[in-house]
Amino acid sequence: MVVPYTHEPLTDFTKEENRKAFEEALKKVEGELGKEYPLIIGGERIYTEEKIKSFNPANPDEVIGYVSKANKELADKAMKVATETFEWWRKTKPEMRADILFRAAAIVRRNKHEFSALLVKEGGKPWKEADADTAEAIDFMEYYGRQMLRIKDGFPVNSREIENNRFFYIPLGVGVTIPPWNFLFAIMCGTTVAPMVSGNTVLLKPASLTPVIAHKFVEVLEEAGMPAGVVNYIPGSGSEIGDYLVEHPQTRFISFTGSREVGTRIYEKAAKIQPGQKWLKRVIAEMGGKDTIVVDSDADLELAADAIVYSAFGFSGQKCSACSRVVALEDVYDDLLKRVVEKTEKEVNVGDPANGDTYMGPVIDHGAYKKIMKYIEIGKKEGKLMTGGEGDDSNGFFIKPTIFADVDPEATIMQEEIFGPVVGFTKAKTFDEAIEIANNTEYGLTGAVITNNRLHLEKAREDFHVGNLYFNRGCTAAIVGYHPFGGFNMSGTDSKAGGPDYLIQHMQAKTTSEML
Ligand code: NAP
Repeated sequence: MVVPYTHEPLTDFTKEENRKAFEEALKKVEGELGKEYPLIIGGERIYTEEKIKSFNPANPDEVIGYVSKANKELADKAMKVATETFEWWRKTKPEMRADILFRAAAIVRRNKHEFSALLVKEGGKPWKEADADTAEAIDFMEYYGRQMLRIKDGFPVNSREIENNRFFYIPLGVGVTIPPWNFLFAIMCGTTVAPMVSGNTVLLKPASLTPVIAHKFVEVLEEAGMPAGVVNYIPGSGSEIGDYLVEHPQTRFISFTGSREVGTRIYEKAAKIQPGQKWLKRVIAEMGGKDTIVVDSDADLELAADAIVYSAFGFSGQKCSACSRVVALEDVYDDLLKRVVEKTEKEVNVGDPANGDTYMGPVIDHGAYKKIMKYIEIGKKEGKLMTGGEGDDSNGFFIKPTIFADVDPEATIMQEEIFGPVVGFTKAKTFDEAIEIANNTEYGLTGAVITNNRLHLEKAREDFHVGNLYFNRGCTAAIVGYHPFGGFNMSGTDSKAGGPDYLIQHMQAKTTSEML
C-alpha cells in the first residue's frame, strides 16, 4: 500500500535557512553551466554536430547548455527503439512502473533546490515560481503513480449467469510528448510520465528554449530504474522533427501542450491517415488562454486586487492560466483599478530572477519580447495606459507590468493571447453582462469570480464557460490532484492534467467476455 497522495509543500523563503540553501543551489548550478548534452535513444548517448544553445533569458550571454539536436534519421531511430521496447514494456506490472515514479519523485525531492535553481537560470523563473514548478513535477509523479495503481485492474461490469465479463485498460503504443517552455519542468514531466506509467513508450521532444531540464529529468528516470528505450530524449526543431513525428505512421498518440497555432496544426496533421498507419491517432492538445477575473459589486476589493496582481504578473504573465482581462462591475471599477495599480507599482519589481527578492523576471526570449511590446503599442491605442508600458532588452528581456484601463471587450488586447505581463480592464453594468464579456473569446481555459453574492457565484458556476473556474481567489496556481487542469474551446481537449481521468487518455479500454 502506498500512502495517500498529498501535494508537495512549497518552500517558505521568509526562512533564512531556506534562502541560504537556495543560494547554494544556485551557485552549484552556475558551476555546471555550458555543458554539452546528448540525445538519449534506447539509453545510448548520441552527440550531434548541430546543437541547440539554451541560454538564460535574464542574461543571454550565459549559456545553460549546448544540446544535441535530432534530425529525421535520429527521430526514426528513436521511433524504432520505442516501438520495439513497447512490445515488452506494455506487459510490465503497473506496480513496477509506479515504483519508478515514486523513486524518481524522491530523487527530485532530495535535490529540489538544485532543480529549481536550474529553472531560474533556464526559464527565467523567480525563486517562488521555480519552487512551485519543481513541486508540481513531484506531484505529477506521485499522483500518476497512484492513479495507475487505482485503474490497473479495470472496473467492474455486469456478468450474466453464463458468462464472466471483464473491463480493463491497455496501453496504446508509442507516444510523442511535445511540451512548452513555460512550465519547463512540471508540464514536461507530467506529459512524459503519464504515458510511461500507463505502459506506453515515449519520444520526448522538449521545447527548444528549455531542453536542459528535460535532459536532467530523463537521467532521474534512469536513476530511478526506468529501462532503456522507454522514454527517449530527442530535442530538435518543432517544425522539423515535431511535424515529422506527428505524421509518422508508427505514432500512436501525441501529447502536446503549447500555443493554439501549433496545437491546431498538430490536430489537423494527426487526423490524416498515412500509408501503413493502422489506427486513428489520439491527440491531447492543451493550448492557450485569455483568462478573465470578474469582480462583483459586493466583492472584497483587497482580495480582488491581490488575486489580479498575482494572476496577471506571476512569472511575467507567461502562464496559460494568467489573468489578462479584468471585468469589474461599474460601481467598484474605479476603486479596484486604483488598488491594482498601486499594488503593482509597490510590489511588482522587475529584475534578475536569481535575486531572491525579484517578483518578475524576464520574458523568455527576444521573439516573445518583441511580440509583447507590439501588443503594448496596440494597447496604447485601445485603452488608457495606467502603469508600465515599457521594456528593456539591452541585456535580457524585461518588460514592466502593464495595466490598461477602459478597454473595449472586443479590442485586440482583450481577445488575443499576449503571454506577457499585460492586463486590460473593462466595465460591466450588470453581473450577467460581466459573464457575457468573460465568455466572449475563443478560449476557455481559466477564470475567476470575486463575489460575496451566492446567486452570482452559482450563475458563474453554470454559465462562465471555462475548464477551471475559481471563486474568491486568482485564476492561476492549479494543484495536481486538487484542481485537475484543462480548457474548453480553443484552449484544448480538456484532458484535465492532474485529474483522475488523465491516464486513460493514454490507454484503450478492452472488454473480455468468457462463456461459462
Ligand atoms: P509553442 O510555440 O506552440 O511550442 C510548444 C511545443 O511545440 C514546443 O516543444 C515546440 O518546439 C513544439 N512545436 C513547434 N512547432 C511544432 C510543429 N510544427 N510540430 C510539432 N511541434 C511543434 O508554445 P510555447 O511558446 O512553447 O508555449 C506557450 C504556449 O503554451 C501558450 O500559448 C500557452 O498558453 C500554452 N500553454 C498551455 C498550457 C495548458 O495547459 N493549456 C500550459 C502551458 C502553456 P520548439 O520549441 O522546437 O519550437
